[in-house]
Amino acid sequence: MTNHKSGYVALIGRPNAGKSTLLNTILGTKLVAVSPRPQTTRNRIFGIFDREDVQIVFQDTPGLLDPKDPMHEFMVREAERALADSDIAVWLIDAIKGCTNRERVIVDHTLAAVIVPLFAAFNKIDKVNPDQLPRLQKGLEGLKLPSPPTIFYISALQGDGVPALLEQIIARLPAGPKFYPSDQLSDRTQRFFVEEIIREKAFLLLREEIPYSLAVQVEEMKESESGLFSIRAALHVERDSQKGIVVGHRGAVIKQIGIDARREIETLLNAKVFLDLWVKVSEHWRKREGHLREFGYLEK
Ligand code: GDP
Ligand code: MG
Repeated sequence: MTNHKSGYVALIGRPNAGKSTLLNTILGTKLVAVSPRPQTTRNRIFGIFDREDVQIVFQDTPGLLDPKDPMHEFMVREAERALADSDIAVWLIDAIKGCTNRERVIVDHTLAAVIVPLFAAFNKIDKVNPDQLPRLQKGLEGLKLPSPPTIFYISALQGDGVPALLEQIIARLPAGPKFYPSDQLSDRTQRFFVEEIIREKAFLLLREEIPYSLAVQVEEMKESESGLFSIRAALHVERDSQKGIVVGHRGAVIKQIGIDARREIETLLNAKVFLDLWVKVSEHWRKREGHLREFGYLEK
């Protein structure tokens, strides 16, 4: 089609800035996992926005952080890979916190090499007094960037400012064809999203270091002739002491994770689902190459 535009857009920023929330809002559907816990997103995930005149491959990414273990190192590589593949980079900043020193050290370091157009979007403005906006903008002064970023103020959660951001992204995209069929929403499989849904529901119920230590793996996914999906998934924890917490008193916690996850998986698959969850100890998986690869947290 003539005048058709397309390109890759990286959504990057500190953990919890709202990158995944923004992707879901732009797509108008719950695609990627969101939670108040930091480091909910662990992989680069494509979310494909398609319109007659444009296709944008948004890349959701793990938050930029100072890596403390091999799992973190993978997460940072995923974010850097997204940046390297992008036509535009959208840097999300939590407007409640502003451009903090940690943000300056880590993001400034990563963004200094970015040559594509950079949009800086202050997110969560629904929680910020409008008279604070000039102060936020001032916080971006003095950063070592190839060119000054274009600034936006948005609420990824409520949608304010998102259409304007989207239109500016489209305005800066090059002419090009669709990369994916119009009805394709992501590069990831159903199985991947089943795992992400279970992990998200667990993140919402568990606290402290448990979410951090949790990995979910679908071990079996079968569709019967009547259209019922039978799914068995393991929740891997790092230490024996964490197992009981995830199971809960008389199995109450894992049962609740199952109830919450099943509801959403049924929407995803548009089918009835039988979900069987169990907890397994995979000692220190965040540091073990074999486990990381098995869980999809290492490049193939
Ligand atoms: P990510 O780590 O950058 O992907 O952040 P998430 O999208 O997972 O969001 C982290 C937390 O911030 C979640 O609890 C979201 O509901 C919340 N959040 C995201 N965007 C907004 C927003 O615009 N306003 C408010 N109030 N909360 C938001
Ligand atoms: Mg995320």
